[in-house]
Amino acid sequence: MENEKKTVTMEKIISLAKQRGFVFPGSEIYGGLQNAWDFGPLGVELKNNIKAAWWKRFVSHRGDMVGIEAALLMNTRVWEASGHISNFSDPLVECEKCHHRFRADTLDGDKCPDCGGSFMEAQQFNLMLKTSLGATADKANEVYFRPETAQGMFVNFKNIIDSTRKKLPFGIAQIGKAFRNEITPGNYIFRTREFEQMEIEYFIPLPKNDAEWEEYFEAWRKEMHEWMTDLGIKPDDIHELDVPKEDLAHYSKKTIDFEYDFPFGRKELYGLAYRTDFDLKNHGEKSGANLKYKDAETGEEYYPHVIEPTFGVERSVLAAMCSAYTEEKVGSGGSEEGEEDMRVVMKFPKWLAPVKVAVLPLSKKDELSSVAKKIATELRESFTTDYDETQSIGKRYRRQDEIGTPYCVTVDFETLNDNAVTVRDRDTMKQERIAVSDLKKYLAEKLAE
Ligand SMILES: [Zn+2]
Repeated sequence: MENEKKTVTMEKIISLAKQRGFVFPGSEIYGGLQNAWDFGPLGVELKNNIKAAWWKRFVSHRGDMVGIEAALLMNTRVWEASGHISNFSDPLVECEKCHHRFRADTLDGDKCPDCGGSFMEAQQFNLMLKTSLGATADKANEVYFRPETAQGMFVNFKNIIDSTRKKLPFGIAQIGKAFRNEITPGNYIFRTREFEQMEIEYFIPLPKNDAEWEEYFEAWRKEMHEWMTDLGIKPDDIHELDVPKEDLAHYSKKTIDFEYDFPFGRKELYGLAYRTDFDLKNHGEKSGANLKYKDAETGEEYYPHVIEPTFGVERSVLAAMCSAYTEEKVGSGGSEEGEEDMRVVMKFPKWLAPVKVAVLPLSKKDELSSVAKKIATELRESFTTDYDETQSIGKRYRRQDEIGTPYCVTVDFETLNDNAVTVRDRDTMKQERIAVSDLKKYLAEKLAE
């Protein structure tokens, strides 16, 4: 394990991701755009697999959760009530000589690191991204892109209760984009100005003491660990940071950051926060809407409290990729001509792999490729299937290893006689001869393991 860890670097991940089609620099042909990234054919499959699994696990498979998809643009009063207009900012300083801007809290000295100039007085820089609605760009039309998905859940609380008649405890889940005008984005897709969140607001009955909310908090802490393990993240690479009282966000009474050992250091992957009744109470009082919950049995009315598990989609992708990245020495025994004896293999959990099966005819000759294409068409009904007939079989295996394809199906001249194919396992590289008529069933069972 220690050995594998050392081989992962951001350079290797970024290069593989670009070369194989996971992640591309945004607007690349025009010189890119400040830390914007586009997800390629494999990246989007990876993202979709993560989002679908998350939704199935935390929404569809539970009786106490419902989903929502709120608009990205919301009434500015939402951000006044949530505290984002007044609190969601970083201290920013500007050099009076070169006019470069820096986050004041990340600087060591009082001189510009770029030119040695002095700084002007620090100003609070709000991190919300602004745009305007309608034809005129005046102040009245100014709106913000949401800096988090959470508020969409809070402002719809009454709609959800009225339409679904859910009883506490229950949660609202949402997957969607959010925007933050970070002064210093960076570390590849780790911190970007446009990102996607998978978030839950879990509403609980009014706690009479700490133990009553701690019980829910603890249950979600465990859920989050299990999710991370299922993503292929090694438990040793996850560290819980109990955020100190003085660093807590204005709404939170307790927050745990789940940190992951990225190649660029130990950084926040997910968060779990106890938000008390801060949000519902604020929105209730400021909007005038009745956001209190009425207990049907006791008749008691109160603002429910909230436990909030937050998962970043891009950070999930990055942690899954770093965890899957493996360099292996392969013995000369089984290797093809011209192969090196090192291979890079993305050992994604099978459910997560962007491509499940690759069909590889040993030769481009029509007698083989026509059979192989027919097999690929049939497999595509059930699995994401790649078809590749160019280059040596060894190079094609390497390519599939690098994108993490769990099974390669090789069609050879023997197939024309015995109606069977060779199935190669990504991790063990062992090969098995399987009848074409059994192939779909065989792969379905293997992929479900
Ligand atoms: Zn300067």
